[in-house]
Amino acid sequence: MNYLLHLKCRECGRTYAPEPIAACEECWAPLEAVYDYGRLWSDVRRKDIESRPPDMWRYRELLPITGEPWVGRRTGFTPLLPAPRLAKALGAREVFVKNDAVNYPTLSFKDRVVAVALSKAHEFGFDTVSCSSTGNLANAVAAQAAAGGFKAFIFVPADLEPEKIVGTQIFGATLVRVAGNYDQVNRLCSEIAQKYPWGVVNVNLRTYYSEGSKTVGYEVAEQLGWRLPPNIVVPMAGGSLITKIAKAFEELKKLGWVEAAPTKYFGAQATGCSPITTAAKRGTSEIEPQKPHTIARSLAIGNPADGYFAVKTILGSGGAGEDVNDEEIVEGIHLLAETEGIFTETAGGVTVAVARKLIQQGKLNPEEMIVLVITGNGLKTVGAVNGRFAESVAIRPKIVEFEEKFLHPVAAPA
Ligand SMILES: *Cc1c(COP(=O)(O)O)cnc(C)c1O
Ligand SMILES: [Zn+2]
Repeated sequence: MNYLLHLKCRECGRTYAPEPIAACEECWAPLEAVYDYGRLWSDVRRKDIESRPPDMWRYRELLPITGEPWVGRRTGFTPLLPAPRLAKALGAREVFVKNDAVNYPTLSFKDRVVAVALSKAHEFGFDTVSCSSTGNLANAVAAQAAAGGFKAFIFVPADLEPEKIVGTQIFGATLVRVAGNYDQVNRLCSEIAQKYPWGVVNVNLRTYYSEGSKTVGYEVAEQLGWRLPPNIVVPMAGGSLITKIAKAFEELKKLGWVEAAPTKYFGAQATGCSPITTAAKRGTSEIEPQKPHTIARSLAIGNPADGYFAVKTILGSGGAGEDVNDEEIVEGIHLLAETEGIFTETAGGVTVAVARKLIQQGKLNPEEMIVLVITGNGLKTVGAVNGRFAESVAIRPKIVEFEEKFLHPVAAPA
């Protein structure tokens, strides 16, 4: 059941056996997993996929692991929800929300990438895993390391949200807070990966890790009845998710499982950390690194590893990149919560607010179907909306008091 052929350099095309390697030895470009699509096409049918349990492993032939998954057995297949009230608020005809705020086990889309990375770490025989993270990856690695019996060392920027700190330490992982931004944390982590024989999820396991993101794309297509959406809005940190959704859609076309309809990719960032959308707006794939300053900490990567490929995906599809400020992010969180009953973290606020802005600008067509990718849970960034509600005064347990306060507030004297 293994269809992975090799890893291939995205720049020079040199191929490598599937091993734990960080980048091409010739040109340091990232590597891409390549599969035997011909054999896959003749062995696997759409109805085989449909008959499997509702988790991300129903697409296992398109994932780079050899045997059974070691962790994350129940991860993925999150709901794709019609969002008519949100659509109305946005002035759009048809909106769907892909809700990874309820992904298993740590309530973000990172559970998918970690399920692949740690299953691969087990195949490679690592007993210790590690990562640098803006928060959600830390939670996912810590939880799945515990479930998979790995030791875990997790490196994060020191100013991370308290929910994400606790949500890492609770699993017994060693959390290393670093006084610096994500890009500095990541540099430290790369050095550590060279010195210690560990499986570092976003360094020497990155090629496998990032393949897990494809399952968002497969699921969206299958949940739409094996159709590709004409428009998809995706939040970007390192820029991997958006490129992998595009890879997933291309693979489904190659296998003949969906009709070859075009999709426009819209990339969303926070204005306070917008290296990818800034490049996209300038129409160039040259990424200028930034120093992040935004409440959307999960997206705060100033020097995005896949930024170049993300811009190419966006511009090549006829889509667009856009960013929103902190105030708009909070409005986006509220809008999704009040219209659809979904509480997302700051990254989801970015997605919703960017969609609204793109529709207003006429760059996103409200007459066509729009899929919004919601990647994380609001309970992890409560601070972003805390203090925005009027402190409610406690009433005595008397019905008259409830009625006076809430149903018939005393009218001002005439
Ligand atoms: C990591 C993350 C993303 C973006 O991931 P990239 O693949 O690095 O672009 C989006 N949303 C949330 C909540 C994340 O944690
Ligand atoms: Zn190369």
